[in-house]
Amino acid sequence: MNSSPTDVLISEVGPRDGLQSIKTVMSTSDKQKWIDALYKAGVSEIEVASFVPPKLLPQMADAAEVVRYAKTLTGLTVMALVPNLKGAIAAIEAGVHKLTIPVSASAAHSMANVRKTREEMVDEVRQIVQYRNDWAPLVKVEAGISTAFGCTLQGLVSEDEVIWLAEAVTTAGADESGLSDTTGYANPVQIKRLFKRLKEAIGNKAGAAHLHNTRGLGLANCLAAYEVGVTSFDSSLGGLGGCPYAPGASGNVVTEDLVFMFEAMGIKTGINLDLLFQAREPLQSGVPHETLYGMVPEAGVPKGFEAATK
Ligand code: ZN
Repeated sequence: MNSSPTDVLISEVGPRDGLQSIKTVMSTSDKQKWIDALYKAGVSEIEVASFVPPKLLPQMADAAEVVRYAKTLTGLTVMALVPNLKGAIAAIEAGVHKLTIPVSASAAHSMANVRKTREEMVDEVRQIVQYRNDWAPLVKVEAGISTAFGCTLQGLVSEDEVIWLAEAVTTAGADESGLSDTTGYANPVQIKRLFKRLKEAIGNKAGAAHLHNTRGLGLANCLAAYEVGVTSFDSSLGGLGGCPYAPGASGNVVTEDLVFMFEAMGIKTGINLDLLFQAREPLQSGVPHETLYGMVPEAGVPKGFEAATK
């Protein structure tokens, strides 16, 4: 793993967000091989699992085992998604470094997704923080505001409500709060406006951009976020997961393309692109029927690219 300072943090969410939205169950040993390959490429933070009942998501039944394995990789920040206190307790017991709690800005999505109002989710965050303070004070807690840019159920999501919620979860004790374009509705102007407001509202607790490429604006939106000071980005190797609707377009932003964009601009990610491409092999062999996306892995890097960045 690369330990020299980087300009941006690329947080790989494939083993959680990617696997969670496909049918094939990847074996624990295949997950380990994939995580190993990402780590070797220089990825320094990976969301490796979600702690939800195995009945709901058989794909994540081995969450604790995967966390324990990932923790053997020195220097890697091991993250897991937890929807509630019960999940948080299990994740902390498994030894995660960081928890991420999805909190929906859309009232309709919140009810549909977790059967809780937004206020009840803020209360859940408060309870998780309390538990963390008592039992694992070093574990970081992030509350990601999902459907921050629009919602398939209710359409428009009020920007005032997104900011209100980010303030509420950080007041409840979350260390940071980022914004997720869960539905791929965002455009760069909206991204800049909302991330600026987020920073004004919660200062250095403003967290990661979790953006989707559903309508082809994933990279443009990441760049827009970077231009207003966001330095932490979620993406998925091969664009796995994140509910792709259109053929040829991934759901999650493709890690390989995102790393290429930043590196080509001289913005350091700490990730070796060749090794990152190689990490597609264990992913593809673990889920042989899934399509992997990515423009740069398809086309290759431009001639002279390496020389230009050294
Ligand atoms: Zn996603």
